[in-house]
Amino acid sequence: MTATTSKTTCPYCGVGCGVNFTLPSQVGGAVPPVSGDNSHPANFGRLCVKGSSLAQTIQSNDRLLSPMVEGHAVSWSEAIDTISSKIADVVKTHGPDAFAFYLSGQILTEDYYVANKLAKGFIGTANVDTNSRLCMASAVVGYKRAFGSDTVPCNYEDLELCDLLIMVGSNAAWTHPVLYQRIAAAKQRRPNMKVVVVDPRKTATCDIADLHLAINPGTDAAIFSFLLQHSVQAGILDSDFIADHTNGFKEALNQANESTPNLISTADFCGVSEQEVMILANWWSDTAKTVTFYSQGVNQSSSGVDKCNAIINCHLATGRIGKEGAGPFSITGQPNAMGGREVGGLANQLAAHMDFATPGAQDLVQRFWQAPNMATENGLKAVDLFQAIEEGKVKVVWIMSTNPMVSLPDTAQVRRALEKCELVIVSDCKAHTDTTAMADVLLPATGWSEKDGTVTNSERRISRQRGLLPAPGEAKHDWWAICEVAKTLGFRDAFAFRTPCEIFAEHAALSAFENNGKRDFDIGHFSSINKDEYENLVPVQWPVPKGRPEGTKRMFEDGRFFTPDSRARFIPVTPKKPVNAPTSEWPFVLNTGRVRDQWHTMTRTGDAALLTKHTDQPYVEIHPKDANQLGIEDKTLVRLTSPQGEALLKAKVSRAVSPGNVFTPIHWTQQFANASVVSNLIPSLVDPLSGQPESKHARIKLEAVTNI
Ligand code: SF4
Repeated sequence: MTATTSKTTCPYCGVGCGVNFTLPSQVGGAVPPVSGDNSHPANFGRLCVKGSSLAQTIQSNDRLLSPMVEGHAVSWSEAIDTISSKIADVVKTHGPDAFAFYLSGQILTEDYYVANKLAKGFIGTANVDTNSRLCMASAVVGYKRAFGSDTVPCNYEDLELCDLLIMVGSNAAWTHPVLYQRIAAAKQRRPNMKVVVVDPRKTATCDIADLHLAINPGTDAAIFSFLLQHSVQAGILDSDFIADHTNGFKEALNQANESTPNLISTADFCGVSEQEVMILANWWSDTAKTVTFYSQGVNQSSSGVDKCNAIINCHLATGRIGKEGAGPFSITGQPNAMGGREVGGLANQLAAHMDFATPGAQDLVQRFWQAPNMATENGLKAVDLFQAIEEGKVKVVWIMSTNPMVSLPDTAQVRRALEKCELVIVSDCKAHTDTTAMADVLLPATGWSEKDGTVTNSERRISRQRGLLPAPGEAKHDWWAICEVAKTLGFRDAFAFRTPCEIFAEHAALSAFENNGKRDFDIGHFSSINKDEYENLVPVQWPVPKGRPEGTKRMFEDGRFFTPDSRARFIPVTPKKPVNAPTSEWPFVLNTGRVRDQWHTMTRTGDAALLTKHTDQPYVEIHPKDANQLGIEDKTLVRLTSPQGEALLKAKVSRAVSPGNVFTPIHWTQQFANASVVSNLIPSLVDPLSGQPESKHARIKLEAVTNI
C-alpha cells in the first residue's frame, strides 16, 4: 500500500516548520510518521524535538468529543442555539460590547477571519483579542510606528547571511530551535560571523554567543539608544537614507543623547561593564550586515514598544534595512500569531492590516463585507478584556484554543472574571484544561492532525496546514462552529462558507479590495484561488499582490514605507526600567519563560513521554549567593510570593541567573500537573501602547518551605 502523506506545518512555534505527516496506520511503526519537509523554506527538513514528537500527541485520551452545556453532552444544534440566543439576548439588552472573542495564535487564519468578521462586522464589537497579545503585540506597534504598517522586513535567510546577529530577549535555542540550528550552522560555515546575546539570563542560546550582555532586566532600550549615539560618533550614519527615506532622526538622537548621555551611564543603567558595551558598539560600527533578532524578552515589557523602536531607530539610522543580511527582525512565539495579525485578530485592528484609525478603512471593510453592524472603535485588549468581564461589562466570552487560566497574568483575576461571566464558551480539542473547567458551553474542536487551512510564520510565509485524520467524535473545525453561530444569528449569506479555501479567497480579496498600492498586506493573487490551487499551495511570503505570485522575500528594498509620505519614522525613546522595582519587602525579580521541550500550557506536549523527560518538573532558578542566604539547596521546596499570589516550586541553584533574580518556566498547570500556576505571580501591568503584559518581570519574595 502506498502511504498517504500530507505536507503540513508544525503547530508549535513561530518558525513554522514544514512537516511530512504520514498516516500512522500505514507505516506500521517502521517509518517515523513525522519528518521534516525538505522542500519547506523555513526548515529545509529540520525539526526540533517538539516537532519530531508530534505523532505522540495526536491520540490523546482526553479529547473533547461532544458539545457540552453545563456539563451535559448535547447535539451541535443545541449548543449553537444556546450560544446564539445568549449572544442575541445580551447584545439586545447591553449592546454589542457585552460579547467578546478571546482567540489564539494556535487557530488557523481562516478561523480568525470568520471570528473577526462576525464580531467586527455583524455583531458590532471590536472585542476580538487573542493570546498573541501576550507574544508579539509590542512588536506590532513598534513596526506600525516606524513603518506605518505591521511589516516584518527580514526573512530567515538574512539570519544566515548577516555578519553580526544581535539576539535580544530571545532564548531561540529552546524557543525557536530550528532557527537556532540554522544560525549555529551558518556560524560554523562562516567563522567571522559574530553573535551577541542581550539577555539577563545565561541561556542555552549563549552557547554560540561571542558576547553575552547580561543586562539588568528590562533595560534593553538603553543599549540601542547608545548604539544610535555611537553610530554618529563612529561615522556610520547612512545620511542619504536618513534624508531620502525617513523623518525624525534629530529628535530621536536628541532623546538618546539626553536619556543615555554616555557609555558610563549606559553601562550603569544596564548593569554591565563599559568594556562589554563597547565591544558590541565596535562590532556594530564595523559590520554593515547586521540583523537584530528580538522576541519575548523585548515584547513582554511595560515599555516593550519603545524597546522595539529603539532597535528599529538604529537600523534606520545606518540604512541597515531592506538589504540582504540586515534589518530588525521580531520573532513571534506562536505558529499563527502572524496570521491573526493579518486578518485583524487584535482588538485594535479592523481587518486585512487596516486599523479603525486608517482613513476610509471602516467604510471600505463595511462595503466589502456588506456588514450591517460595523464596530467603530478599538475593542478591549486581553488584560482589559478580562477585567471588563469581572466588572460585568462583558457578559459572554468565547475562548478558542487557549488556556487563559494559566497563561494570562494574575490568574486569580481571570478566575474571578470567568466565574462572574454569564456565559463562558470554550472551544478546545481537549476535555480537561484549567480553562475548560470554567466553561458553561464546551465545543469540541479539531486538532492539528485534522485541521485544514493556512498559517503564517515569523518571516511572513503563508503555509498550509493539511488535515490527514478524520475528526474524532463530534469534533468540528473552529471556522465551522463560528459560521453556524453567525447563521443562527441571522447572517446566513455572509457566513455561507463551505470550505477553508472559500474563506481564504475572501480574506485575500479583502486584502486587495480598492487597494492603490498603499497596503502592505496584499495577497490579492489568491482572491480567486480554487480548491485545487489551495490544496497545492506552496509556502509563500506576503505581500502576494496580483501579478506577483512569487511573493516578497524582503521588504523595503526600495526605501519606501507604508506611511502617508512613504518615509519611515524615527521614534524618540527614553529607556525605562520595569514598573515594579524590587523593594525590601519584595526583594527578588521573577523572570518567566519556556523550557526546551514543552509548549505553552502542556495541553499537547504534556502527552508525549519523550518531551517530559527533558524537564519533568517545574522549578525556580536561584543564584547560589541568594540560595545560601535563604538556606535553599537544590530541590528545596521554595515558596514564591508576590502581591498577586504564590507558587511552590523546587529550587534549581544556578549561575544562569544573576543575584536578586530568579527564573521559572510557565508551562505547568493546576489541572494538568497539580502544580502552581506561575502566571498567578505576575501583575496585570501592560505596555500602555500595545497592552502586552510585563510577564518577564514581577517582584516577589522567596522562602524555603519546611512545612506545607
Ligand atoms: Fe515546530 Fe518550532 Fe520545532 Fe519547527 S522549531 S519543529 S515549528 S516547534
